Amino acid sequence: MEKIFPEAESKKEIDIEKSFQKALTDEILLEYDIECLLYAGLEEEKQRALRGKAREIAAKEAGNQGKIWASIGLDYVNCPMNCSFCSMGSAWNSYEKKEELQEKEVVEIADYYARQGADWLVLRTTEFYEFDRLLQRIKAVRQRIKNDCVLVVNTGDANSRKVEELKAAGVDMIYQAFRLREGTDTRFDCNARRETIEMISQSGLKLSQYLEPVGPEHTDRELAGRMTELIRQGTDVAGIMERVPVSGTPKYALGTMLPQRIAQITAVLRIASRASIRDIVIHPYHRPAVECGANALVVDVGAIPRSRGMTRTSWKNQDMLQAKQFLKESGYEVDDAGNERNERSKGR
Ligand code: SF4
Repeated sequence: MEKIFPEAESKKEIDIEKSFQKALTDEILLEYDIECLLYAGLEEEKQRALRGKAREIAAKEAGNQGKIWASIGLDYVNCPMNCSFCSMGSAWNSYEKKEELQEKEVVEIADYYARQGADWLVLRTTEFYEFDRLLQRIKAVRQRIKNDCVLVVNTGDANSRKVEELKAAGVDMIYQAFRLREGTDTRFDCNARRETIEMISQSGLKLSQYLEPVGPEHTDRELAGRMTELIRQGTDVAGIMERVPVSGTPKYALGTMLPQRIAQITAVLRIASRASIRDIVIHPYHRPAVECGANALVVDVGAIPRSRGMTRTSWKNQDMLQAKQFLKESGYEVDDAGNERNERSKGR
């Protein structure tokens, strides 16, 4: 039965207070509790307590380890799927040039990130990247980085379903998110997308998905629903990815969010997921979010859906050094010894 958010202010206050107490006393949060805690009007004192609780959980569950999600976008190409937040949608992207990183470049970047101590090395493609070429890239990267990073692919739906071939090529984890307003802001079939996520979680490979792309238009109920599902689907590495408005995309006019709101969402996801999700990534970086539960940052290069064309420098100049520095500033331990880090800290 559909839950109705209480109209009466007093009822709302009572519900929020109950959910707040559950959060502070380590009780399991139901979807409606999560919705209550996401209430933007939550008083500052409660917000502060939730942020503190979330940071405490991050220290315990993630071993207070700061981590890096290093991502390489392999191809920049206009995409007929036209997701309304993505710069590569063919309906609005006038940047006609198709660009692709060559295998040698991909391997060299991957090697650099591995030597710098990245925890996850992600090969990201557009929706229709040729599967055999992807397998070649995976094998070449795996051969070079050995077991220094968790090797992740973030690729099209059809590619992601080929779990056995991906596993045989050396993949450890697949990123496959069910996006906020999937099927409305995107043209994907929601059932098929959920089915792919289920296939990954049953495959023996790790599953990663972020709460994404979060914008000011998303209601507390929508965010709570997606958080609950993400936890239930057995996500190993989660994250919060804000929608960065790209000029010309249909969602550009909706703008972006305040860092404090992103911090509240991060804290609630950290508290709701507790021991079930060890690592939570925040992208792009917001210090308040790192200070309340996100223990991992992204370093991004190549084709990036938030900007146009191929870039060979880190997005927003957030390179490995900078990302590690940000994590340290918020009290996380970061191993500067690069790939000599032990297996336990690798998120396996
Ligand atoms: S998000 Fe992926 S599927 Fe959607 S338009 Fe961009 S590249 Fe295509």
